[in-house]
Amino acid sequence: MDLIALAVPFFLLALLLELFVDWRKKTGYYRSNDAINSISAGMLDTTLGYFTKFLPLLGWGFAMQHLALFEIPLDWFNLSLRGLAWWALAAIAWDFCYYWFHRFSHEISILWAAHAVHHQSEDYNLSTALRQTSTGFLFGWIFYLPLFVVGFPLEVLITVNAVNLIYQFWVHTQLIRRLGPLEAVLMTPSHHRVHHAQNERYIDKNYGGMFILWDRLFGSYEPESDDEPVVFGVRKPLANWNPFWANLQVYDYLWFDSRKTKRWRDKLGIWFRRTGWRPADMQARYPKSRVDLAHFEKFDPEVAPGVRRYAVAQFGVAIAAILWIGDLFATSGASAVIVPCIALWALLLSLGWLNEGRQAAVALELIRLLVVTPALLLSAYLSGMEIGLAAVIGVTVYAVAGSAWLLGAGRNQELLA
Ligand SMILES: [Zn+2]
Ligand SMILES: [Zn+2]
Repeated sequence: MDLIALAVPFFLLALLLELFVDWRKKTGYYRSNDAINSISAGMLDTTLGYFTKFLPLLGWGFAMQHLALFEIPLDWFNLSLRGLAWWALAAIAWDFCYYWFHRFSHEISILWAAHAVHHQSEDYNLSTALRQTSTGFLFGWIFYLPLFVVGFPLEVLITVNAVNLIYQFWVHTQLIRRLGPLEAVLMTPSHHRVHHAQNERYIDKNYGGMFILWDRLFGSYEPESDDEPVVFGVRKPLANWNPFWANLQVYDYLWFDSRKTKRWRDKLGIWFRRTGWRPADMQARYPKSRVDLAHFEKFDPEVAPGVRRYAVAQFGVAIAAILWIGDLFATSGASAVIVPCIALWALLLSLGWLNEGRQAAVALELIRLLVVTPALLLSAYLSGMEIGLAAVIGVTVYAVAGSAWLLGAGRNQELLA
């Protein structure tokens, strides 16, 4: 049973509810460009994950077979009082490992390169929760190996991982201020807002997943103060709505420093040193200035309102597409979803460019609508899939009506408002 897939409809409902409250109260917690970029990153992680997430399973499988000290029987994890205590122990143990994984993800450069994606949003709402990295599969699993060595069953650990992830969804909101005594034990929206801050006082704090206890225990706890409102985001802004680039940005600047620095020790060391550390020669030759948070402005390129609405409508298509792709993956496996995933990725890139107001965006989008989409239908037909008349009409209407709308809304000279 895939708990995360089951939770997706609830995620969408909660998000729509928060969006509605935001609209009614005019709180300004949502901007369509930022939310589209965050959810696009989540879609990229999900779809790339179809091809990458076997790696953690291989590592964990190896640990279970060759390194396990004990074997805790799966049937101990039942619904009796004792069984529930075992479940609770597994969930707490998982959260403990998560704390250290998350802390190192902030403190070590190469791990930050993967995790930074989650922090790039300069808004804070439920869409931020879906903003997940696509390269987490590289190292994340290593931090949970002790649980496999102890001998927890794989099924149990996969379940508590899902529960941990699902729990973390709801803390990404500004609509809930404080939760009284629960603030002492649990990770709450208030604690996690601090975690997403770039203010000096809040940075590198509150790493827990479900519990804030670890932070209190290991000295990384900071409460949210009413005197200092949180400024969300990262210190080197993404300044971009391309979900692919979001995943590469930090690797790119580490690679730049690694290439250009003189000493071999630094070329290698740069990846494993504390986040933010740079070799002296690089700091001298390519100095980076600190951001002035007093004058902080969110990345928000202006585009014609019609283009913004067009992007929102096409994003609805992306949501429908990923739900369908998820279903196809569950029934037919990874090879069946390669082509639909490529089509989705093209759409996500195109939406990013449109929201950036790039001149090339309209051309890219027209190519996607008028060339790529019909070509996909043709390739499906040639590969033996049955294509009904309704599908042909549907694709034609989508391509022609989409192009007409886009040309009306964003003729090149009007694309930039
Ligand atoms: Zn984090
Ligand atoms: Zn978060």
